[in-house]
Amino acid sequence: MNTLPWKHPERVAALHAALARRILVLDGAMGTMIQREGLEEADYRGERFAQGFDALFAADGHVHGVGCGCEAVDQRGNNDLLSLTRPDLIRAIHRHYLEAGADLIETNTFNSTAISLADYRLSHLVRELNRESARLARAECDAAEVATPGKPRFAVGILGPTSRTASLSPDVNRPGFRAVTFDQLADAYREAARGLIEGGADILMVETVFDTLNAKAALFAIDDVFAEIGGRLPVMVSGTITDASGRTLSGQTAEAFWYSLRHAPLLSIGLNCALGARELRQHVTVLAQVADAPVSCHPNAGLPNAFGGYDETPDSMAETLGEFARSGLLNIVGGCCGTTPDHIAAIAAAVRNLPPRIAPALAEVA
Ligand SMILES: [Zn+2]
Ligand SMILES: [Zn+2]
Repeated sequence: MNTLPWKHPERVAALHAALARRILVLDGAMGTMIQREGLEEADYRGERFAQGFDALFAADGHVHGVGCGCEAVDQRGNNDLLSLTRPDLIRAIHRHYLEAGADLIETNTFNSTAISLADYRLSHLVRELNRESARLARAECDAAEVATPGKPRFAVGILGPTSRTASLSPDVNRPGFRAVTFDQLADAYREAARGLIEGGADILMVETVFDTLNAKAALFAIDDVFAEIGGRLPVMVSGTITDASGRTLSGQTAEAFWYSLRHAPLLSIGLNCALGARELRQHVTVLAQVADAPVSCHPNAGLPNAFGGYDETPDSMAETLGEFARSGLLNIVGGCCGTTPDHIAAIAAAVRNLPPRIAPALAEVA
């Protein structure tokens, strides 16, 4: 897919120019900001989903009505649905991150795949949710670019991991069982990617990868969609170290993760979620040494506390990530769970005048 032209060549040129000059700042958590709003079921549903189902859609042959069976689905916690029912809120969160200094903002689409939306019986919304979420993010980027000319902003279309793993069995008694296949994942990611691109995403990011095979399905799907539309976007990949031995759920170290994916032309490779910045440092260091692509890092605000919350303050997180930057480890930095615009503002200030990491010159591997 290397040979396809960029879909938005001017934005890609601006992105590459910015990456060459400085460390770019990614936004922080969407979920944390939504949680602060204390939304109730009715807020999630809005008018369109007031009865628990989509008033604008019914499957073939189905008529919604009393006892139709669709109204039992609880939408509270379906954060991605807020892109349709509370677009004002999602735009405001994007705006706050842009005002905090984010160069890149992530679409509200972490669970906007048919697989994840099936839990809410809203799989039919995949295309619309991804398209609308990308539109909201891009619209706020446009507004920020007007307010601060000369500082390009980028909407990053997010493809989440889904709750299923393609390379592991969820059933210890049936090690050969898989809850999802590569083809099912690829189908799900194709439809999500189409929506993100239609909505104007500048970049796609396969994020919070705990199973490399899931990520490969996403990259395979993205390539298919690029071929369909005859153009491409830059693609970021960010993995998640989930255990104390420093491996992803599918058992790879950061180094193995990079080597499994380096065949793809990536804008960046990085790590996010699960751990705080301090715990991620050794793994980011490895990526910085082995990867000949830009390196990204967006950690959680520390390890979760006893209540499942995150305690690391903007200042302490910025101090840690500032040290990463001074050590030449970073090209893109932001925050994941528990981070807020205050965290992003502190991180942006900490890396502002520091040079970006320079990728090592590696021997060409045939
Ligand atoms: Zn119904
Ligand atoms: Zn996270």
